This record gives sequence, C-alpha cells and structure tokens, in this order.
Amino acid sequence: MKRIVVHYGELSTKGRNRKMFQEKMAQQIREKTNHLGEKIKVSPQYDFLYITWEHTDYQTIIEILKDIPGISRFSPSYQVSKDLDSIKKEAVRLFSSLELAEGESFKIVAKRSDKDFPYDTYDLQREVGSAVALAYPQLKVQMKQPDHKLTVNIHQGDYAYLDLTSYPGLGGLPYGTSGRGLLMLSGGFDSPIAGYLMIKRGMALDAVHFSSPPYTSPQALEKAKKLAAQLTHYGLEMKFYNVPFARIQEAIKEHIPDSHSMTVMRRIMLRVMDQLLEKSKAQAIVNGESLGQVASQTLDSMAVINEVTSTPILRPLIATDKTEIIELAEKIGTYDLSNEPFEDCCTVFAPTSPSTRPTLEAIVRYEQALAIDELVDEAVRETSIEWINESYLEQDSFDDLL
Ligand code: ATP
Ligand code: MG
Repeated sequence: MKRIVVHYGELSTKGRNRKMFQEKMAQQIREKTNHLGEKIKVSPQYDFLYITWEHTDYQTIIEILKDIPGISRFSPSYQVSKDLDSIKKEAVRLFSSLELAEGESFKIVAKRSDKDFPYDTYDLQREVGSAVALAYPQLKVQMKQPDHKLTVNIHQGDYAYLDLTSYPGLGGLPYGTSGRGLLMLSGGFDSPIAGYLMIKRGMALDAVHFSSPPYTSPQALEKAKKLAAQLTHYGLEMKFYNVPFARIQEAIKEHIPDSHSMTVMRRIMLRVMDQLLEKSKAQAIVNGESLGQVASQTLDSMAVINEVTSTPILRPLIATDKTEIIELAEKIGTYDLSNEPFEDCCTVFAPTSPSTRPTLEAIVRYEQALAIDELVDEAVRETSIEWINESYLEQDSFDDLL
C-alpha cells in the first residue's frame, strides 16, 4: 500500500467548522484523482489527512497535491512491517533516493503510540540512526536544523510508517470553504491571477466574460474560456457566463464623451454583474484591478464606478505590481494563454484619453442619455452559460479547426 500524509495548515484554527473544511479538501482530492483508474482512498483525520492507494506512482499523486488549496505540506509515507530490521532497511533505502553531499546532516525522529512495541523512541532513534550513518558515512547526525529528517511512526496496527521528504503545498484554504464569487475574467494577465488567488483562499468561482462580437473575435472568447479552464485546475468545474456587450458599447460610444466612456462602461458592467450574482447565488465580485495601473483604477475612478453597487468587490491584486502578476502567471500556467494577441471588448473600445478623476455628478448626468436598465436587462437575458473544466484545454483550438 502507498500512502501520503497531508497537513492542513490554517485549518487547525477552524474550531467547529473544521470537519467541513476537511471534507471539502477530501472531496477535491477525490475529484482530482478519480481519472487514475484505481481507488484512491482519502481519509480525513483530526490532525492530518491520509491518502492511500495501491498502484499509481507516488510522483503522479504528488503533482496533483501540489495544486490543491488548503494543504500546507505533505509527505509520502512508506509502509513496512513493524520490526526493527525492516525499519532500518527501509530507512537506508529512503536515503538512497536523495542526492547526498559530503557533510550533510540528518536526524531520526521516532513517534510511538503503540506502547507494546519493544523499543522506545530513544532506542529506535539510535538504532535507525546508526544504520543510516553506517550506510552513508558522508552524513553526520545533527539534532538542530538537520538537512534531512526521517520520521518513524509506530502506531497501533501491523505496520510502521517512515517519511523522509516533505513537499510544500499551495497554502490557503480548501476550495469552496470561503463562499462563492463571480470573477470578471477578461483575456488579460491580471484577472486570471485575481481568480487564482481567491481560489487559493478557498473561494468557489464562476467566471463572467464580456464580449463584443463582431468587434471582438471568436478567438478572444476562446482565450477567456481557456483561461477559465486553467483556473479550474486549482478549483473545480466552473460556470462561464458570456455577456454580449456590443450593443452597450455602441450606445456608450454614441452618447458618452470619450473621456468618460470608460467609467460608464465599468458601471454598466457592475450592474450586469449584480444581476448575474443573484442568479448564481454568489456573494462577491472579484476583479483584477491594481491601484494606479490604468485610468479606471485610480481611487477617484474606483469610487465613482463602485457607486452603483453595494456588493463586496474583492480586488486581490490591488497592491501588486505588474512584474509580480506576470511571475504568478508563469507559475500557474496562464501566461501563454493571456499572451495570445486577441483583443477583448475593453481594448477594442478603449478611449484615447480616459479621465482619471471622473466626478459622480458628471457621470450620472451623462448616463441619463442611455436606457441603462433596458440595456442591462437585455445583456443579462442574452447571456449564455457554459460549464468549463480542465478538459476544455485539451480540445482542438479554434485555429487548428480552421
Ligand atoms: P486584465 O489583465 O485582466 O485584462 P487590465 O489590466 O487589462 O486587466 P482593465 O482592462 O482595466 O485592466 O480591467 C480591469 C478588470 O476589469 C480586469 O482585471 C477584469 O477583472 C475586468 N474586466 C475587464 N475587461 C473585462 C471583460 N471583457 N470581461 C470581464 N471582465 C473584464
Ligand atoms: Mg483588460
């Protein structure tokens, strides 16, 4: 039997909700491993979560666990029969998988809850330690901050468990434990990262994309869907709302001065978001705004734009720089998708000199030229919904079909 021990991280502070948090994490692990063709058993315990299985190689499971929110760290745990000889042999074997340099240090930590086991923790540590030292003369024993720590667990039951390597998890909270948000997903670099950060923090997400055919291309829509698909790698399947936005943008272009069109457009987007929020039972809007990045992201602009809604708007990127965003995009696999050249609706209709300091009074006056309620209702009515998951990325891309 193969086994990995998963450590929960911040979950340990969750008191009465703890069970729900553990169960959500277990569910996601089951979901992400159910294509492997064998039963992967996920057993949440109070302090850890165990994953056990028979055939799949360790590395496959390790790669999956690295991208699951809420895990602080995890360690493969090797099972041997519960006698000193087998334990020593396994200890020596485990060290052979490391690249050991001269002078590196190690330590053995024994944990024993089975008091019938003939060796106490001290004896075990000494015995296993000498076996390892004998096999690897280049290593030295060191109690404080050793380079390698091997833990030997002797619990009730027939087996002992050894673990040597620990992998860092993603951190955050299990997917779906922090409510549901609606992500405003463009084709840029920022909004997918905003979505990723909220997913990592345990928020279940659906995505909303505003598209303006015929001004925007089918490839631009495709790009947004692929970004959504890449985000589901860290969470679970999500709904993708495609909001037709061309009519609204034409109306804005016709009736609103260039300097204020961006502000009005954003306010209308938020009104649409509010209606979709109700439909999808979400509690917050998430976007990729970063303070001062563009004209609509100054405090003056945000105040006027925000005025149309009382829904919480979460802006996880508000204090990040573009370079930090790009680094994350590379890490989570959205960079190449965002880098595709297809322009979205905001870029196509971008004004030449948007105001960075719009006043509410002026904006409200300009908006009177538009039949806003009807435009918003119509856009919501014509919004299409599609379920998207990771397998979307494997489908033939639009270009391949041409
Ligand atoms: P991004 O990189 O995500 O495109 P950006 O730097 O281009 O962001 P803006 O175009 O000002 O910034 O957009 C700010 C935020 O508004 C985006 O991060 C996104 O959350 C939302 N947004 C912009 N355009 C769209 C769109 N076509 N559909 C859905 N949301 C959008
Ligand atoms: Mg954009």
